[in-house]
Formats: sequence, C-alpha cells, structure tokens
Amino acid sequence: MEQKGRRLLLMPSPLQGHVTPMLQLAHTLHSNGFSITVIYTSSFTHPHLSSSYPNFTFLSISDALSELEASTSASDPVHLTRLLNVRCVEPLKQCLVTLLKNDDRVACFIADAALHFTQSVCDGFKLPRLVLRTGGASSFLVFASFPLLREKGYLPVQESQLEEPVVELPPLKVKDLPKIETRDPEAFYEFVVQFVDECKASSGVIWNSFEELESSALAKLRQLFSIPIYPIGPFHKHFPEGSTSSSLLTPDTSCISWLDTQEHNSVVYVSFGSIASITKAEFLEIAWGLANSMQPFLWVVRPGLIRGSEWLEPLPSRFMENLGGRGYIVKWAPQEQVLAHVAVGAFWTHNGWNSTLESICEGVPMICSPCFADQKVNAKYVSDVWRVGVKLENKLDREEIEKTIRKVMVGDEGKAIRDNVLDLKEKAKISLKEGGSSYSSLDGLVTDILSLKS
Ligand code: UDP
Repeated sequence: MEQKGRRLLLMPSPLQGHVTPMLQLAHTLHSNGFSITVIYTSSFTHPHLSSSYPNFTFLSISDALSELEASTSASDPVHLTRLLNVRCVEPLKQCLVTLLKNDDRVACFIADAALHFTQSVCDGFKLPRLVLRTGGASSFLVFASFPLLREKGYLPVQESQLEEPVVELPPLKVKDLPKIETRDPEAFYEFVVQFVDECKASSGVIWNSFEELESSALAKLRQLFSIPIYPIGPFHKHFPEGSTSSSLLTPDTSCISWLDTQEHNSVVYVSFGSIASITKAEFLEIAWGLANSMQPFLWVVRPGLIRGSEWLEPLPSRFMENLGGRGYIVKWAPQEQVLAHVAVGAFWTHNGWNSTLESICEGVPMICSPCFADQKVNAKYVSDVWRVGVKLENKLDREEIEKTIRKVMVGDEGKAIRDNVLDLKEKAKISLKEGGSSYSSLDGLVTDILSLKS
C-alpha cells in the first residue's frame, strides 16, 4: 500500500526531552508522506504545539492525575511515568477503539519507550507498535544490562565501589551507572527492566542517534534484540533550523542579541535542561566559578532549578551588575540557536541526550555535570570515548569550575576537544545526506512501516 494518507499514531512522554524528539520524528515522517496523530495526556496540554504543527492532529486522553500529582511528579520523572503507565491504559484503549473504527489506514503506533504499557494495549488491537527511544544507544545498553549488573553486584550502587570498573561495560565505572532520585529506588529498577522488555516485544526501535557515533552499542543491541534498530538521528537536523518548535516554555530570544555583541568562541553557555535541580550552595558555587573564570557566560536559570527558591533570590545583590555585562541570565533559551551562534565556545551541560546531541551537531565542546538517569553514561562517553568534553569531577566547587572552564576555553586540551567535536559534527552531517547511514536507516524505517501487518 502506498504511504500517502497512511496514518501514524504517536504518543510522547510529556516531558520536554521526550516531546521534542517525538515531534521532530513526526515532522520527518510527515515529510515522508505519512499523516500524523499525536496522542498526549490530559495533565500536560500544550495548546501552542498544535499551532507549531498545523498539519498534525492532536488528541488528548485522560491521565487521571490530580493537580498535586501532576505538579510534584514533574521533578520525579520515574514516578510520573509509572503513574502514566497505569492510569492511561483504559483511556488509550477507548481512544484506539474510536480511532481505528473511523480510519482503516493506520499503519502503526509509535510510543516513547518509557510508556511501556502501550505494548499490551497495541497487542490487544493487533496494532504494530514501534518504539522511540529518546536517549542514546550506549546508555540504553546499560539499561538493558540491569539484571546482569544486579547479579554481578554493581547494583544497587554502593558508595564504596564508585571507582571500580564495570568490566562488562567498558569504559564505565560504577559511578557512571544510571542513578535517579525517586521516592522508590526499587521501582526505578523494575521500571527499567519493564521498558527494556517491552522494547524487545515491539516491531522495532527508533533512535535519535547515528551509526558513526554509537556503532559499538548499536551493534551489541542488534545482537541482543531480534527486532530492527533504526538510528536515524540527529532528528533536529533533518530539516532547517527554526522550521519547527516544540519548546514547552517560551524561549527568551534577547540572549541572541547579547551573543551578537560577544567575541567568537568566547561564551560559556550553561544549562541543565528541563528537570534537573540544584541546591542554593551549588548555585552559588556555579555563579562564583563563572564570575571568576573571566569568560563571558550565558546562563539558563529555569524557575525551579534552585531547590527552595523561586528564581535568582540566592544571588548576592548587584552580582550581575558587577560583572559589567560579562554575564547574561535567562529563564529559558532558544538552545539550538544559541549553540549554533559563533560566539559560543563551550556548553556546560547536564548531558541530557538532546543537549549532548545538539552540542555535537554544532561542534561545541562540553563541560559535563551529569545529574541523573542516563546523563552519567552520556557524560562518560563525551569525556572518555568521543573526547568532545571534560567532566567536572567531584562536587560543584568554584575553583574546580574556574579551572575546568579555562581548560576547555584555552589551552591544548581545549583545542584537541574542539577538533574532535568538529569532526563528529561533520560525521553527523554526512549521516543525513543521501547514502549516509541515518538517511538509509530512515529509508528502511519508512519501507518497514508500510509492510507492517496489523
Ligand atoms: N532547552 C531549551 N532551552 C533551554 C534549555 C533546554 O530549548 O534553555 C531544550 C534543549 O534544546 C533540549 C531540551 O530542552 O532539546 C532538553 O532535553 P535534554 O534531553 O537535554 O534534557 P532534559 O530536559 O530531558 O533533562
């Protein structure tokens, strides 16, 4: 059957780092001739997204979360996802009954890997399910190894073993294993095992990554999984910059005019993504570290970033004024545009997968401060495998910060890191061109979707 008019049902997890790649994937598949329906959960309605993607149909299903559950779980993604995996079962079934009755051209369901409940729901309708894994393949391999890691005694992580190598997963050390602050750590383990199992049960897994970046992990996953694996990223480079937006917060674009006034490769861009939070003491160490480094900086201080504070209250009075314009703070930045700006010389990041890929794609060296989940694995690959950044070891400390910024911005190590990241940037570009690895993998995905049998 030709793809024109064939419909794909996509269901993102409602967090920023998951919504963005799902909508980017939808955009790419729409450009390949598919019609798109996005199913989202009622507590996380983002009406402006439908105006950014006027060609998509957006459908809301009830997640039955109370206001309190929705607001508190935003800072505990595992808890939130566990709730959604239970509460959305019946509403999704009802939604599919109607959708499938009215449309016989639905080709498949594409779900965020975290929403593992969707596998059994789709099975009930004999609807093929593909999975989008919004993180990297290397970190997924670690998640897929959780039962082994537990059997070998690496999990749960013990403070006394942090520096020990994980011999089954080189070059990781115990301190690099995914960790998450959640109200029930055992629940995190169970959640991971379940989402990996339901990926294996799917018709294929799509990755926002590219073969040349993660060839070793992808090869191992192909051995472990008997289903197709589609690395078709970097997603955001499939179309021109600025042609879509899936930001859930409004970016402050004034920082671009500020960047315009700065010298090439001089600015440290600092952002820890949409979920991570820090203490007041850590916030102040960052502030002083940035100030003492003498480099200009653009800092995203998201309301909610500093635990127990609304926004910038912990900053000493006249702190920014005293820097004489050398620093600029925003609540949310147009990150892709910032990273593409010639003034930006380094990205101090928490190594969320989207941020990591975006930095690589713009050839920006990283300073890594991973916080939770897959971020520690990503940071290890950035610093020790791809060598496109350095890790800020130990706790956040102003002198350490100053030293690390200098290491990346000036000096020979910084130069080597910059060369490496520019090389990877080029590889990412080539992977998307005709004949490139991601281009071919996307071709395969489109062909396979059309041959899926419901
Ligand atoms: N982002 C943004 N503006 C900001 C900070 C982040 O647009 O000021 C975007 C960023 O470009 C990325 C996403 O938010 O696409 C964050 O995803 P990531 O996986 O890096 O981290 P998470 O927020 O999931 O921890």
